[in-house]
Amino acid sequence: MGKAFFNCAGLALLLYVPVMPLSQVLSQAGVDGGRPPIIDMHLHAFRLDDGKPLPLNPVTGRPSAARTSAEVRDSSLAVLERYNIVKAVVSGPPETVDQWREAAPDRIIVGVHVDEANPLPDLARLRVEIQAGRVHVLGELALQYRGMAPNDPRLEPYYALAEELDIPIAIHTGIGPPGTPYDPCCPDFRVTFGNPILVEEVLIHHPRLRIYLMHGGAPYLQETEAVLSVYPQVYVDLATINWILPREEFHGYLRELMRAGFGKRLLFGSDQMVWPEAIGMAVEGIESATFLTEEEKRDIFYNNAVRFLKLDGK
Ligand SMILES: [Zn+2]
Repeated sequence: MGKAFFNCAGLALLLYVPVMPLSQVLSQAGVDGGRPPIIDMHLHAFRLDDGKPLPLNPVTGRPSAARTSAEVRDSSLAVLERYNIVKAVVSGPPETVDQWREAAPDRIIVGVHVDEANPLPDLARLRVEIQAGRVHVLGELALQYRGMAPNDPRLEPYYALAEELDIPIAIHTGIGPPGTPYDPCCPDFRVTFGNPILVEEVLIHHPRLRIYLMHGGAPYLQETEAVLSVYPQVYVDLATINWILPREEFHGYLRELMRAGFGKRLLFGSDQMVWPEAIGMAVEGIESATFLTEEEKRDIFYNNAVRFLKLDGK
């Protein structure tokens, strides 16, 4: 979202960390208490505002267990280890993402964050960073918080670059917290800009773009299904909605996507912001879905992301 901690609508420049061979990833998986591997497609390296009250977890109502930005990092990395989350697409302030990557170089896939506080990066520099292997994903692009739609012409050179260099684009879709347009951070925020249907012209102009829609496009179920139906290259992540929404509502949404036949295009994500415990809550959101088979859960947690990120072919 964007807006400080709550809106993961930021455009994250995903830096591409060298990818571990799948065999190595899989062998690591066995080390950790038998938990099969997971890939988190949506994690943030955000900073806490020093000196301000700790932000309350919107679900538990309790303050973040992490009291400093370093604790957010260390606790989050510990949770990744605990759940055998072998890779995570991480975006946030570039210097913070760097710190996370230094702490866990094999695990962190670097994203570029764009939101109301983080503008689109310089294009020439971005090209250099991608080609140097320091940026791997362009996202989270929380364009909505900047008052931009996914098909805004200013984004065109970024899509062209991502298509040319074959790196994924991660776009925030859906909504934001209550009252966002009235918050001084985000007067240009509009619900309208979160509609997944707005990616259509981008897909027409850039048919080879690897793109995933964040937050499952929720609550735009029909539009999300329409895009997934017509454009087989599009994936969606289930971040945030798998822990912030009432469980029944999330499961209803997930079940509709499964019934429509999109089980091979769904990606696990947590959208951890400044609450490391959210990662486990997000995992639980998938594991508790009794309508999913074990195989379908493995697809969502891991197999679909391996395919999308091309981790098996390099
Ligand atoms: Zn978001």
